[in-house]
Amino acid sequence: MSIVTLALSKGRIFSETLPLLARSGVVPAEDPESSRKLIIGTNRADIRLAIVRATDTPTYVQHGAADLGIAGKDVLLEHGGGGLYQPLDLGIARCRMCVAVRTGFDYARATRPGGRLAVATKYVASAREFFSGKGVHVDLIKLYGSMELAPLLGLADAIVDLVSSGGTLRANHLVEVEEIMPISARLIVNPASLKTKQALLDPLIQAFRSLSA
Ligand code: ATP
Ligand code: MG
Repeated sequence: MSIVTLALSKGRIFSETLPLLARSGVVPAEDPESSRKLIIGTNRADIRLAIVRATDTPTYVQHGAADLGIAGKDVLLEHGGGGLYQPLDLGIARCRMCVAVRTGFDYARATRPGGRLAVATKYVASAREFFSGKGVHVDLIKLYGSMELAPLLGLADAIVDLVSSGGTLRANHLVEVEEIMPISARLIVNPASLKTKQALLDPLIQAFRSLSA
């Protein structure tokens, strides 16, 4: 029997995917937040979940180690999206990618022609493209988390980060100065799996499509 593997990360992606899975008739056998297992079965013998780090989801699907996955647009832009079929915006895990600076920092001055800005971010590719589109020269510093700290310690003038409520920015005396793009999670599929496991994947993709429409 053929089995389909869906890669997804713990946290908001998992919790917001659960209702979509449930309405597609798929119920995980365990809660990944409390279980230490990284492969989780479901009520369907032919569907299992692989719990991966959010940034690794496209890699598993691209190589066919997982047949499909759910990943934020932020993650897909950094990955590049090569070798992935992206049929659906699921509209879950919504937030926005934005530029933030320390309260009182003169962002307009730093970004005028001939200006220079030090930017710390996990999203180096997206940040590079955004500032080059504006004609602003940036020095990019790659970070892996807690971006809010960088302007506070003088590592950078600005950060590019994901924001939903803005609470973390406020708590750290940062202000959003520009929105780069809205973010939501997408369904990604391995193109070879789409052919070899069509009978299993098509109904699942259709179910997700009808729920996200
Ligand atoms: P980790 O927190 O383990 O370092 P991560 O930040 O990549 O990893 P999550 O915090 O679970 O993982 O975020 C997963 C996805 O959820 C992100 O890629 C993004 O698409 C979305 N997301 C991240 N931050 C927010 C936010 N503040 N509001 C809503 N969605 C978000
Ligand atoms: Mg996080």
